[in-house]
Amino acid sequence: MPTYNELKNKLLDYAYDHKIPITGEFEITSHCNFNCEMCYAKNTDPVLKKDDWFQIFDMAQKNGMLYALLTGGEIFTHPDFIDIYEYLYDLGVKITLYTNGSLLKESILHTLKKRPPEMVAITLYGYDETSYKEFTKSQSFNAVDQTIDALKTNHIPLVLRTIPLPYIYQRLDHIIDYAKSKGCHLGYFLYVSKVKGQDRLKPKDLLDFELRLKTAFPIKSQPKHKRLCGAFKNGYFINHKGYMQACPMMPIPSRKVEDDLMATFKTLQKEWETMLEASPCTNCEHRDGCMTCLARRYLEGNVFKCAAYLKDIALERNHG
Ligand code: SF4
Ligand code: SF4
Repeated sequence: MPTYNELKNKLLDYAYDHKIPITGEFEITSHCNFNCEMCYAKNTDPVLKKDDWFQIFDMAQKNGMLYALLTGGEIFTHPDFIDIYEYLYDLGVKITLYTNGSLLKESILHTLKKRPPEMVAITLYGYDETSYKEFTKSQSFNAVDQTIDALKTNHIPLVLRTIPLPYIYQRLDHIIDYAKSKGCHLGYFLYVSKVKGQDRLKPKDLLDFELRLKTAFPIKSQPKHKRLCGAFKNGYFINHKGYMQACPMMPIPSRKVEDDLMATFKTLQKEWETMLEASPCTNCEHRDGCMTCLARRYLEGNVFKCAAYLKDIALERNHG
């Protein structure tokens, strides 16, 4: 009998092949109570009102959306988070929440107990109050710790994640120990874009970061699927201003979603496919170890050219 995840992967593969947008990622706010230096998402722009999101969700669900991700900024800063979440949930959509875990009010927990999300993913930036204060410029570790306990006590599916930045890498063993002490899996991102005045991990350290996390939190069986990137195949991202784009990292191509979400999806899909055709990576010998994609090459400086940082990582992975 196939598991839920195996069936979900089959559905995602089918949608990928047939270009049906069954996943939607929604940046419901760009506001955040943390002040991390590397953050590209945070700003104080006005955000869409809940009625705007309801309209977008209705169109998304009518056009095939089965899975949604709510992200930010920090999603729990949105004044109408509960209404937005409940509306989406009641459309029959499976929801994942990305949060920093510091603002889980009793009313939100109550909602999540009544209408459980498919997953909550909390990004960890440290392992105690001192590291949180240094990295996020907020005194929130205690609140994050309590959120983790509250979600676990209430059997709400939870993963922790962390990011490969030098400050975190230097404290990785402590962060791993903390996640283990909570009985949580610790996942990770592997790519961070360059931010002025901020160091990134050298490729060798990045691979060490990955290896230590993989060793500490082995995944028993990786589901097999053929998808590389679902952008404009089985999914899309809509930012806090209501603009559709491939993913949070890639601001081009982009269009405002007006009253025909599928028309916007198809228009952007064509533009995206034209960009994909001009990829420098098609016959590259380093491709297997490279985390190349349009967004990452864009953030490295040129979508249509090999990026030195990505290539160095690929070389380290393939020969290191
Ligand atoms: S373009 Fe890159 S970062 Fe964006 S969804 Fe695709 S693989 Fe991920
Ligand atoms: S980014 Fe550079 S190294 Fe990576 S696959 Fe493309 S051409 Fe090759």
